[in-house]
Amino acid sequence: MTLAGIEELVGSWGWPRYRARQLAVWLWQKGALSFQEMTDLPLAARQMLNERAVITRLELLERLAAPDGETVKFLFGLADGQGVETVLLRHDYGRSVCLSTQVGCRMGCAFCASTLGGRVRDLTAGEIYDQVLAVRRCEGEQATHIVLMGIGEPLDNLAAVLVFLENVSAPYGLGISPRRITLSTCGLVPRIRDLASYRLGLTLAVSLHAPNNELRDRLVPINRWYPLEELIPACRDYARATGRRVTFEYALIKGVNDSDGHALQLGALLKGILGHVNLIPVNDVPERGFTAPGAERVNAFRRILERQGMAVTVRREMGAAIGAACGQLRRRRGPGRGEEPA
Ligand code: SAH
Repeated sequence: MTLAGIEELVGSWGWPRYRARQLAVWLWQKGALSFQEMTDLPLAARQMLNERAVITRLELLERLAAPDGETVKFLFGLADGQGVETVLLRHDYGRSVCLSTQVGCRMGCAFCASTLGGRVRDLTAGEIYDQVLAVRRCEGEQATHIVLMGIGEPLDNLAAVLVFLENVSAPYGLGISPRRITLSTCGLVPRIRDLASYRLGLTLAVSLHAPNNELRDRLVPINRWYPLEELIPACRDYARATGRRVTFEYALIKGVNDSDGHALQLGALLKGILGHVNLIPVNDVPERGFTAPGAERVNAFRRILERQGMAVTVRREMGAAIGAACGQLRRRRGPGRGEEPA
């Protein structure tokens, strides 16, 4: 719930309005695990909350730390027996958490493990939020940055994501500025336009991965509904409306989308957009059989884009050793949580 929602609820119980803020601070900032610990609420109020409400919490099922200590992957159990993966990335500028927004994913991208079992359900706003708190409970470290780049398509669960964003950036929450939050989408054009209209100031990342419709239809199937001639103008408008640079993610797959011709086409496609390209040598997903090109090809691709005036970064690979890199997160089953999908 947002603060307004809690205000409405406690108002319907005849409580003073400021109780809502106290509750929000306990829930979204202090990460209270029970109503009992909410010591600035009268005992009777705590008892009533106990009878009428529950605080659900993610349960740590598995923790995997990369040998270099920079990346930690968590498998968290949800109240209904499902599970999600969350990743903590320690950078020199701070700590970012990569959050999941759905159990599984229905977008069907050809190279991504999160979509192998389809979508099971959306996460609630609380479950998205609690990933940040659960990482804090486990590591004692507070995230400074958030990326919505874990399992699921955030714009396919936008209502919950909006509640999450409101709470996490609020002073009664964690006060993480939207400028430090990146939302990654495979390209749900109407939702990108909705997001632009809210002017939240978050960074938009778009999973492009191909410079033409023929190839993108195969790699990122949502392209069949929202082709490049709709997606690119929506990105242009997002950048214009928000003043924020759009990130274009491009996973380089050997022999599929990594030729000089593809680089030239990509440069032409993005010409003049306020944005930059993030090249990601594709990560291993054994079921998919795609491989990454060598460093030389990656650099050649990069240089062609730069010559056309594009800003380009190559994503530093973190977490590959523990299956925590982009596209390696996977839906876990209920009863056999921790199992790989068949
Ligand atoms: N559904 C959103 C959020 C997932 S983010 C989206 O599509 O953007 C995960 C990012 O990793 C996306 O850019 C996705 O396309 C990319 N990705 C998926 N599988 C990958 C793989 N095997 N190697 C590298 N990047 C991958």
